[in-house]
Amino acid sequence: MAQITKTTNRVVPLEKVRNIGIIAHIDAGKTTTTERILFYTGKTYKLGDIDEGTTVTDWMDQERERGITIVSAAITTFWRDYRINIIDTPGHVDFTAEVERSMRVLDGGVTVFDAQEGVQSQSETVWHQADKYNVPRLIFINKMDKLGADFKGTLAMIKERLGINTAVLTYPIGKEQDFRGVVLLLEKKALFWEKDPLGITFEEGEIPADIRSEVETFRHSLIEQICAEDETLLEKYLGGQEPSLEELKAVLRKATIAYRLVPVYCGSSLRNKAVQPLLDGIVDFLPSPLDLPPVKGINPKTQTEEIRETKIEAPLSALAFKIQVDPHVGKLTYLRVYSGTLQAGKTVMNSSKKDEERIGRLLLMHADKKEEISEAYAGEIVAAIGLTRTSTGDTLCDATHPIILESIKFPEPVISLAIEPKTKSDQEKLGNALNRLSEEDPTFKIKVNHETGQTIISGMGELHLEVLVERMRREFGVEATVGAPQVAYKETITKVAQGEGKYIHQSGGRGQYGHCLLRVEPKARGEGYEFASEIKGGAIPSEFIPPIEKGVKEAMENGVLAGFPLVDMKVVVYDGSYHEVDSSEIAFKIAGSQALQAAVRNAGLVLLEPIMKVEVTTPEEFMGQIIGDLSSRRAQILGTEVRGAARIIVGLVPLSEIAGYSTTLRSLSQGRASYYMEPSHYQEVPKNITEAIVAKKV
Ligand code: GDP
Repeated sequence: MAQITKTTNRVVPLEKVRNIGIIAHIDAGKTTTTERILFYTGKTYKLGDIDEGTTVTDWMDQERERGITIVSAAITTFWRDYRINIIDTPGHVDFTAEVERSMRVLDGGVTVFDAQEGVQSQSETVWHQADKYNVPRLIFINKMDKLGADFKGTLAMIKERLGINTAVLTYPIGKEQDFRGVVLLLEKKALFWEKDPLGITFEEGEIPADIRSEVETFRHSLIEQICAEDETLLEKYLGGQEPSLEELKAVLRKATIAYRLVPVYCGSSLRNKAVQPLLDGIVDFLPSPLDLPPVKGINPKTQTEEIRETKIEAPLSALAFKIQVDPHVGKLTYLRVYSGTLQAGKTVMNSSKKDEERIGRLLLMHADKKEEISEAYAGEIVAAIGLTRTSTGDTLCDATHPIILESIKFPEPVISLAIEPKTKSDQEKLGNALNRLSEEDPTFKIKVNHETGQTIISGMGELHLEVLVERMRREFGVEATVGAPQVAYKETITKVAQGEGKYIHQSGGRGQYGHCLLRVEPKARGEGYEFASEIKGGAIPSEFIPPIEKGVKEAMENGVLAGFPLVDMKVVVYDGSYHEVDSSEIAFKIAGSQALQAAVRNAGLVLLEPIMKVEVTTPEEFMGQIIGDLSSRRAQILGTEVRGAARIIVGLVPLSEIAGYSTTLRSLSQGRASYYMEPSHYQEVPKNITEAIVAKKV
């Protein structure tokens, strides 16, 4: 894995680039399908690499241990002479920030379904998430070898539950343990994966007699569907002439990119059968960067919208979508280049941070090696080494043509828990692991409580933190005990007030003298904190203003109502006094803390709680009960909408009310509904509930 090969002067015809994601709900076979895609496309994977007697899966497990992972945020591979960049997408719908960031940079997707399970509610949610970003997709009905695999049943479920127009391109030959291959419907070719256990080679044969009439029916409706998308083709077809294969493919490509038709393939990744037709589908029907509209952004100088054409000669614009720490080369910043050329060794503008960054090296990540390149072009996805100040969501661009692309929004963490190392040796590893994980994940935050020495981690939800603790154990070998999850409440003020802080000690020799008067003013939700000084005429010498602010900030970390952090307020120091000899930074810091506490006590303190935006996807018949239940949880229903065959309920619910919701939803909907939620904003807690929370804390 440490191997880096160097390439210069690449020529990349953009129409031969596919940036795709394999989108699937956990267990449908995303990992296996991705591995097989890498296996069949990887030039370095040879049969000879595999010892006799080991299966592909064993071999892949070993590779995984050696560090060949598909956890890379983007992997480059080739099929025919097309470059396919596979962008990692999360299998868990709870990680909306992750979903958002991957959907933003991919041009097309492959959705994997389980032929026996059909369309599970979670896969429905995953599908609709991609809908939001208008991602053109192919469907792969996987696990055709599994007991109970049902191709037509799954197909019917897809149509009914997702409400889409499917275009079936491969028809299965046999099923369960007799699954042998597929008929390519457009080409009318039967392909069998029977001789080569690795499925690299396959044989063409006769379409088995027992499925011939079914195949004809499916083929007939496929051709009709495609012809209906294009007038010229339709005329030909109605005139009794079948359009050519090229014509049919060209129209199907357009219809797929417009998301009017969704091509469907079937196979078995685990048994190494029928994955290659899917690869052909990715190349034939999913869009290249050129097929999609140019990227839009805001010019920070004029504040007007501008576009950047997907062209190598256009001014550079690129989006940092993921940061990963690689054990061999360190911090990798994954970038999608939207326009222009990114050059290694050159300095570019980080327009989001109004800063400059030098691009150290540029890498293309392959499954088995890293390839160093000197330039990356519009439409490409690369990893950069050497960026220190760029974070996820930042735009990099040409300083003479500044632009800020729409950033990836990451909500503030809403839930936290205390984490403690189990042993002394875990203690050292814990800090390192936490830092690495938070560097990769902008929604994961770490804080040390100075009073108790406890480490508190915060994230987007219970599951999010669970997964991170598990990664810490697995990837970093840290054993830790975690406390119960706590809702991350905050405190704020509702009116203007003043307070005084005086720290004066006279105990022989040199004393301590710090004295200040502060005014606190409420700010709107989400506006954060601001500090200002109105000291004129030297009531407090200027060098003591920063220590006062330090004291204010410290006091704000532990509010006075119930110890939660204070937010959304302006703090102004407007008066005070000092002593020629006894005044010190520390005395003013303490005075600042005291003055802040005194001021907020008079400022109408209230508690704020995180409100989650919840989207429930459900069949229509359960809507009433689900809305009723949500209302009993202090939810505000924002609306309902129809997406395909599903109904979506959108609402805002306090996080404290929605613990254990998955179990409730399952029982309300016979397991058919699913939900996902993300932090929306903070809102005042009703008075009676505040009292209960405060009583518990104090
Ligand atoms: P992911 O969670 O979506 O990444 O799914 P995995 O690729 O890890 O697969 C989940 C489970 O399904 C594993 O036990 C796989 O071995 C199994 N699986 C994957 N593909 C197939 C297939 O084609 N047929 C059968 N029978 N099992 C499969």
